Amino acid sequence: MIQKLLLSLIIPATILYGSQMAVTSSSSYYIYTPAGIQIEIEYGTGTDGYSYNISNYTGATLLVDIATDTFNCHTFAWYYQGDLYAYIAETQFNINDPTPYVGNPSNTCYSIIYSDEYLTDTIASNLQVGDIILYKYSDTTYIFDNEIKHSAMVVQTGSTTTSVRIKSKWGKGQIVESDLVHHPFYTPAIGDKLLSYPGDFVCVYRHNSNHTSTCLISYNDYTHTYGCYYCGRSLITNNHTFGAYSSSNTYHWHTCSVCSQTIYGQHYANTYTINPITHIGTCNVCGSYFEEPHDFVYYEMKYHCSKCGYETKHPLYPNKQEETENEKIA
Ligand SMILES: [Zn+2]
Ligand SMILES: [Zn+2]
Ligand SMILES: [Zn+2]
Ligand SMILES: [Zn+2]
Repeated sequence: MIQKLLLSLIIPATILYGSQMAVTSSSSYYIYTPAGIQIEIEYGTGTDGYSYNISNYTGATLLVDIATDTFNCHTFAWYYQGDLYAYIAETQFNINDPTPYVGNPSNTCYSIIYSDEYLTDTIASNLQVGDIILYKYSDTTYIFDNEIKHSAMVVQTGSTTTSVRIKSKWGKGQIVESDLVHHPFYTPAIGDKLLSYPGDFVCVYRHNSNHTSTCLISYNDYTHTYGCYYCGRSLITNNHTFGAYSSSNTYHWHTCSVCSQTIYGQHYANTYTINPITHIGTCNVCGSYFEEPHDFVYYEMKYHCSKCGYETKHPLYPNKQEETENEKIA
């Protein structure tokens, strides 16, 4: 399940999937889910936010008071999975078309519950918490034929379009809770659908049993984070379960029995025996006795060992650099 590690170590976390993997390709940017689903993204300028006057929309309540173009409704519903505060810790970008998340039914964690239907109370009453609703223009002759307008996530069930509650980011504006119809991105049909404005279609997507947290998404020295193999979300972070330390003269390392990652660290002692070339001590992390060359940093006209504090104007270096590197690999 765990894919090839495509990135070198990022401090503090190694991100295996997600926005850190965004790559440029003919001026487009993409992220990839662990299953390889490609999502085209766009970065906002951060200067083009817009605050809606939500009191104009019956029943709408403010959830997060932000006005930014750096992530949109699709990012919020599909990438952040409706997490109100994910944008604070995570990279922000806009998604214009989230439908690749649904994609090929054998390679997705979503089931299609409704596809391109006019919104009715029947549809409303069949919604479940966590469902994602996609609003689309319906008019096949209209310039915006089938263009995606808005994504929202169900937070409370109900029997009518005005009793079901959803949360969504309103374009370049706030994150708002509303009913299914009182928000800026829903236009109802007017009169005879064939003769006047036809109103919007909705699609409804629901996570299926593929949506589990069994894929390693990222890790750092202390924790591993698991998410869904298909969409990359449903994140769970736990501490590593380490076995005993192994050590060389230079490093110690231990391996997590859950995620199989090996974490390396440098020996570090509380007190050292010092000679002009090396310092010698007992590692206060792994307990092993070690001797290694000083780690000199030059300042104030002297060379200072960053570990043991030894100072000299004339540092002596043992010619064992290659040996040290080999020991790390061994
Ligand atoms: Zn998923
Ligand atoms: Zn682990
Ligand atoms: Zn150690
Ligand atoms: Zn030293």
